[in-house]
Amino acid sequence: MTREGHMEISAPDVMPEAVFEASSHLETFDDMIVECPECGESHRADHLVEDNTDIEEAESLPTDEIADLLAEHDVACPTCGGPLAGEPVDDFNLMFETNIGPGTSSPGYLRPETAQGIFVDFPQWAEYARNQLPFGVAQIGKAYRNEISPRKSIIRVREFTQAELEHFFDPDEDEPPLHRVEDVTLPLYPVAEQEADDGEIHWLTVGEALKEGVIGSDWLAFYLGLSKGWYDRIGVDMDRFRYRQHLPGELSHYATDTWDAEAELGGDWVEITGFADRGSYDLDKHAEHTDEDYTVFKQYDDPVTVERPTVDPDMSYLGPEFGGAAADVADELDALVAHNPDAFDGETVTVEVDGEAYDIPVGKTGFDVEEVTESGEHVRPHIIEPAFGVGRLVYTVMAHAYEEDEVDGEPRRLLSLPPEMAPTTVGVFPLMDRDGLDDRARDLASDLREAGLDVAYDESGAIGRRYRRQDEVGTPFCVTVDYDTLEDGTVTVRERDTTDQKRVPTDDLAGVLRALRDGDRSFEVL
Ligand code: AMP
Repeated sequence: MTREGHMEISAPDVMPEAVFEASSHLETFDDMIVECPECGESHRADHLVEDNTDIEEAESLPTDEIADLLAEHDVACPTCGGPLAGEPVDDFNLMFETNIGPGTSSPGYLRPETAQGIFVDFPQWAEYARNQLPFGVAQIGKAYRNEISPRKSIIRVREFTQAELEHFFDPDEDEPPLHRVEDVTLPLYPVAEQEADDGEIHWLTVGEALKEGVIGSDWLAFYLGLSKGWYDRIGVDMDRFRYRQHLPGELSHYATDTWDAEAELGGDWVEITGFADRGSYDLDKHAEHTDEDYTVFKQYDDPVTVERPTVDPDMSYLGPEFGGAAADVADELDALVAHNPDAFDGETVTVEVDGEAYDIPVGKTGFDVEEVTESGEHVRPHIIEPAFGVGRLVYTVMAHAYEEDEVDGEPRRLLSLPPEMAPTTVGVFPLMDRDGLDDRARDLASDLREAGLDVAYDESGAIGRRYRRQDEVGTPFCVTVDYDTLEDGTVTVRERDTTDQKRVPTDDLAGVLRALRDGDRSFEVL
């Protein structure tokens, strides 16, 4: 994010109802719910369908179809086993409601996504970016959803951390630096493949996916390409990873296209990030609900002269003719000339007010075409949004790093995390907790911490057990201080995955470990 030059902000967790009315979350941010008539427990209806049929993305189906499927497959309540056939499937809004201030006159909601805090303040970000598109605003923070059935550890919870980027760009002019990603190969699972009987994942480069029209937006393709390298780097297993396009019925109310980065976890594909093309939806909606300007003024290199059709209605005619509707008729004429000046070509022009048609002689509308000089134009930016779920990412990295093997004839469990991702980079142990080995090891641990490394010191139990403990929590390197250390100043460095060991002088140790952690040196050629 920093490398891309984006800003980072922190917006409030609770926002007034008006924000979510404008964003349409009040009306449409729903999941499907079915209530068991026997035990009264509520369940996420589309998930029950997925669990009991071959259907993979039941979220894309309408509620009545979900109700039919529950009946057709005799789906039972997972809590008490009671039948759910014939029960209604309803929409359930996922937002937590609260009150802002005392009383109930000012309802508010916990934000269901961090994004809206970015959108409402767009006029300030545009000013800060000095009206220059494209720019991005990112936010890492809590989002809250009143999930019907939280499940699978931190995969589905009601309070979770999102990291979202809203990238604003001029759809007519701004192009992403595709040369940086066009050769990146993506595992793509587009709508057509999901709908085919034998659909499969297509491995295409970003360049090919755009050329073949598999990905429709250059900016979406850019972010998919950019993110792939990052997922790989943080340890997501690329054989258990794909980008799946949303089915039409699955798209959020604001999105024209969405690709989810998905990871395979315990046999299921789980969304870890949503990459949505939000078009200008959010800025349009917030602009409709306030007087603030949700555009960016784009200055032309040279001013241009354009013809602009205008009206100046003759109110001395409209008033007596249309009475109380006259002012509205004048407003409608004003709106009409802006988007359809050809309507003024004939003898009369017709507008509608409250469902009633009014014919006005064109001569009384004051229709004219003026020449005006414009120095620029107002552009409503479009938005591409990568929305990462931090908990799901951490879970995925850990699940994909988990391995079992055998060392010295004994089973071993390890987290094969990339060194730069491991919470601890190095475990430091004295071979024995006596003869000065422990003091020397403690000093060494302290020096390594001083040099900026994450260090765990452990002197308890057999050395083999200490290695295993660090393997289990993913520590990539362990250093052992032994009797030779006291003689020649070298230590044993052991690598987690191979269990290979090398002797390294302590003088050099911090630099060597840092280089290993950052991928600048490899253990093999140490
Ligand atoms: P969405 O706005 O639904 O696309 O969510 C963005 C990201 O937030 C998803 O890709 C998930 O990683 C994460 N996420 C969504 N809902 C939950 C939840 N209930 N619990 C944990 N993470 C979630």
